[in-house]
Amino acid sequence: MVKADTVKLGRHTFEKYLAKDTIKARITELGKELATDYHDKFPLFIIVLNGAFMFAADLVRACGFECELQFVKLSSYQGTNSTGIVKQIIGLAASVKDRHVIIVEDIVDTGRTIHSIMATLEKEGPASMAVATLLLKPDCLEQPVDSPYVGFEIPDAFVIGYGLDLDGKARNLEHIYQLAPG
Ligand code: IMP
Repeated sequence: MVKADTVKLGRHTFEKYLAKDTIKARITELGKELATDYHDKFPLFIIVLNGAFMFAADLVRACGFECELQFVKLSSYQGTNSTGIVKQIIGLAASVKDRHVIIVEDIVDTGRTIHSIMATLEKEGPASMAVATLLLKPDCLEQPVDSPYVGFEIPDAFVIGYGLDLDGKARNLEHIYQLAPG
Protein backbone atom coordinates (compact mmCIF):
# COMPACT_ATOMS: atom_id res chain seq x y z
CA MET A 1 0.00 0.00 0.00
CA VAL A 2 2.80 2.50 0.90
CA LYS A 3 5.24 3.43 -1.85
CA ALA A 4 7.75 6.19 -1.04
CA ASP A 5 5.77 9.24 0.07
CA THR A 6 2.49 8.25 -1.56
CA VAL A 7 -0.35 5.94 -0.56
CA LYS A 8 -2.77 4.39 -3.01
CA LEU A 9 -6.29 3.46 -1.84
CA GLY A 10 -8.43 2.17 -4.67
CA ARG A 11 -8.49 4.87 -7.35
CA HIS A 12 -7.23 7.54 -4.95
CA THR A 13 -3.62 8.64 -4.54
CA PHE A 14 -2.54 10.40 -1.37
CA GLU A 15 0.69 12.34 -0.83
CA LYS A 16 2.54 12.73 2.45
CA TYR A 17 1.43 15.99 4.04
CA LEU A 18 2.34 16.03 7.75
CA ALA A 19 5.20 13.83 8.89
CA LYS A 20 5.00 12.03 12.22
CA ASP A 21 7.75 14.22 13.79
CA THR A 22 5.88 17.39 12.81
CA ILE A 23 2.70 15.99 14.34
CA LYS A 24 4.49 14.93 17.52
CA ALA A 25 6.15 18.34 17.98
CA ARG A 26 2.85 20.18 17.60
CA ILE A 27 1.08 17.86 20.03
CA THR A 28 3.81 18.50 22.60
CA GLU A 29 3.07 22.23 22.26
CA LEU A 30 -0.69 21.64 22.57
CA GLY A 31 -0.06 19.59 25.72
CA LYS A 32 1.82 22.50 27.25
CA GLU A 33 -0.96 24.94 26.34
CA LEU A 34 -3.54 22.63 27.91
CA ALA A 35 -1.37 22.13 31.01
CA THR A 36 -1.19 25.89 31.52
CA ASP A 37 -4.98 26.19 31.32
CA TYR A 38 -6.13 22.96 33.01
CA HIS A 39 -3.44 21.61 35.38
CA ASP A 40 -5.55 22.37 38.46
CA LYS A 41 -9.00 21.67 36.96
CA PHE A 42 -9.13 17.84 36.68
CA PRO A 43 -10.73 18.12 33.21
CA LEU A 44 -12.80 15.47 31.49
CA PHE A 45 -11.45 14.67 28.01
CA ILE A 46 -14.27 13.48 25.74
CA ILE A 47 -12.61 11.62 22.89
CA VAL A 48 -14.52 11.24 19.64
CA LEU A 49 -13.94 7.78 18.17
CA ASN A 50 -12.79 6.40 15.89
CA GLY A 51 -10.67 9.08 14.25
CA ALA A 52 -9.30 10.77 17.39
CA PHE A 53 -7.91 7.64 19.03
CA MET A 54 -4.28 8.18 17.99
CA PHE A 55 -4.26 11.94 18.54
CA ALA A 56 -5.93 11.53 21.93
CA ALA A 57 -3.43 8.90 23.05
CA ASP A 58 -0.53 11.24 22.27
CA LEU A 59 -2.29 14.39 23.50
CA VAL A 60 -3.25 13.13 26.95
CA ARG A 61 0.29 11.82 27.47
CA ALA A 62 1.67 15.23 26.42
CA CYS A 63 -0.58 16.91 29.01
CA GLY A 64 0.72 15.11 32.06
CA PHE A 65 -1.86 16.44 34.54
CA GLU A 66 -4.64 14.68 36.37
CA CYS A 67 -7.61 14.15 34.10
CA GLU A 68 -10.40 11.74 33.20
CA LEU A 69 -11.09 10.19 29.79
CA GLN A 70 -14.43 9.33 28.19
CA PHE A 71 -15.13 8.04 24.70
CA VAL A 72 -18.04 8.79 22.37
CA LYS A 73 -18.60 7.55 18.86
CA LEU A 74 -20.30 9.40 16.03
CA SER A 75 -20.29 9.17 12.30
CA SER A 76 -20.95 11.78 9.61
CA TYR A 77 -18.83 10.61 6.70
CA GLN A 78 -18.98 7.94 4.02
CA GLY A 79 -16.21 7.96 1.44
CA THR A 80 -14.75 11.38 0.67
CA ASN A 81 -18.02 13.35 0.74
CA SER A 82 -19.91 14.42 3.85
CA THR A 83 -23.38 12.88 4.07
CA GLY A 84 -24.39 15.74 6.31
CA ILE A 85 -25.78 13.21 8.76
CA VAL A 86 -24.42 13.36 12.28
CA LYS A 87 -25.33 10.27 14.23
CA GLN A 88 -24.38 9.47 17.81
CA ILE A 89 -23.62 5.80 18.16
CA ILE A 90 -22.16 5.52 21.64
CA GLY A 91 -23.24 7.92 24.38
CA LEU A 92 -21.49 9.33 27.37
CA ALA A 93 -21.14 7.28 30.54
CA ALA A 94 -19.73 10.00 32.85
CA SER A 95 -21.62 13.07 34.00
CA VAL A 96 -20.28 16.33 32.61
CA LYS A 97 -22.19 18.49 35.10
CA ASP A 98 -19.86 21.08 36.64
CA ARG A 99 -16.87 19.48 34.88
CA HIS A 100 -14.28 21.23 32.72
CA VAL A 101 -14.74 19.38 29.44
CA ILE A 102 -12.23 19.14 26.58
CA ILE A 103 -13.66 17.49 23.46
CA VAL A 104 -10.96 15.77 21.42
CA GLU A 105 -11.54 15.53 17.66
CA ASP A 106 -9.33 14.33 14.83
CA ILE A 107 -10.57 16.95 12.37
CA VAL A 108 -13.15 19.72 12.22
CA ASP A 109 -14.44 20.10 8.66
CA THR A 110 -17.91 21.68 8.38
CA GLY A 111 -18.06 21.83 12.18
CA ARG A 112 -21.43 20.04 12.26
CA THR A 113 -20.13 17.16 14.33
CA ILE A 114 -18.46 19.30 16.97
CA HIS A 115 -21.42 21.69 17.22
CA SER A 116 -23.79 18.76 17.62
CA ILE A 117 -21.65 17.28 20.42
CA MET A 118 -21.31 20.67 22.12
CA ALA A 119 -25.06 21.29 21.96
CA THR A 120 -25.72 17.91 23.57
CA LEU A 121 -23.17 18.44 26.34
CA GLU A 122 -24.22 22.04 27.00
CA LYS A 123 -27.61 20.79 28.21
CA GLU A 124 -25.85 18.86 31.00
CA GLY A 125 -24.29 21.98 32.53
CA PRO A 126 -20.51 21.61 32.26
CA ALA A 127 -18.38 24.19 34.10
CA SER A 128 -16.61 24.91 30.79
CA MET A 129 -16.19 23.37 27.36
CA ALA A 130 -13.29 23.52 24.91
CA VAL A 131 -12.33 21.70 21.72
CA ALA A 132 -8.94 20.17 20.98
CA THR A 133 -8.70 19.15 17.35
CA LEU A 134 -5.64 17.92 15.52
CA LEU A 135 -6.82 19.40 12.21
CA LEU A 136 -9.14 22.22 11.21
CA LYS A 137 -10.30 23.08 7.69
CA PRO A 138 -11.15 26.79 8.09
CA ASP A 139 -12.49 27.10 4.52
CA CYS A 140 -15.13 24.41 5.21
CA LEU A 141 -16.44 25.69 8.56
CA GLU A 142 -20.15 26.53 8.45
CA GLN A 143 -20.05 28.28 11.82
CA PRO A 144 -17.04 29.21 13.94
CA VAL A 145 -15.79 27.01 16.75
CA ASP A 146 -14.96 29.09 19.82
CA SER A 147 -11.29 29.30 20.80
CA PRO A 148 -10.28 25.73 19.96
CA TYR A 149 -6.90 24.16 20.58
CA VAL A 150 -5.88 23.42 16.98
CA GLY A 151 -2.94 21.30 15.87
CA PHE A 152 -2.89 22.39 12.22
CA GLU A 153 -5.13 24.45 9.97
CA ILE A 154 -5.27 22.70 6.60
CA PRO A 155 -6.81 23.40 3.18
CA ASP A 156 -9.99 21.78 1.91
CA ALA A 157 -8.58 18.42 0.78
CA PHE A 158 -9.32 14.95 2.13
CA VAL A 159 -6.67 13.60 4.49
CA ILE A 160 -5.94 10.13 5.85
CA GLY A 161 -3.60 8.54 8.36
CA TYR A 162 -2.81 9.05 12.06
CA GLY A 163 -6.34 7.93 12.96
CA LEU A 164 -8.12 9.41 9.94
CA ASP A 165 -9.65 6.92 7.51
CA LEU A 166 -11.07 6.50 4.07
CA ASP A 167 -13.86 3.92 4.34
CA GLY A 168 -12.17 2.31 7.34
CA LYS A 169 -8.70 2.14 5.82
CA ALA A 170 -5.44 4.00 6.57
CA ARG A 171 -6.08 4.82 10.23
CA ASN A 172 -2.86 3.07 11.23
CA LEU A 173 -0.54 5.19 9.06
CA GLU A 174 1.92 7.16 11.19
CA HIS A 175 2.01 10.19 8.88
CA ILE A 176 -0.92 12.23 7.52
CA TYR A 177 -1.50 12.06 3.76
CA GLN A 178 -3.52 14.41 1.56
CA LEU A 179 -5.58 13.47 -1.49
CA ALA A 180 -3.52 14.30 -4.56
CA PRO A 181 -5.17 16.71 -7.00
CA GLY A 182 -6.58 15.27 -10.23
P1 IMP B 1 -17.64 17.75 10.22
O1 IMP B 1 -18.88 17.38 10.96
O2 IMP B 1 -17.92 18.12 8.78
O3 IMP B 1 -16.81 18.80 10.92
O4 IMP B 1 -16.76 16.45 10.09
C1 IMP B 1 -16.08 15.89 11.15
C2 IMP B 1 -15.80 14.42 10.93
O5 IMP B 1 -15.76 14.09 9.53
C3 IMP B 1 -14.43 14.07 11.45
O6 IMP B 1 -14.48 13.68 12.80
C4 IMP B 1 -13.99 12.94 10.53
O7 IMP B 1 -14.48 11.71 11.01
C5 IMP B 1 -14.67 13.25 9.21
N1 IMP B 1 -13.77 13.97 8.28
C6 IMP B 1 -13.86 15.25 7.86
N2 IMP B 1 -12.87 15.56 7.02
C7 IMP B 1 -12.15 14.43 6.87
C8 IMP B 1 -10.94 14.12 6.12
O8 IMP B 1 -10.34 14.95 5.40
N3 IMP B 1 -10.47 12.85 6.28
C9 IMP B 1 -11.07 11.91 7.05
N4 IMP B 1 -12.18 12.17 7.75
C10 IMP B 1 -12.70 13.42 7.68
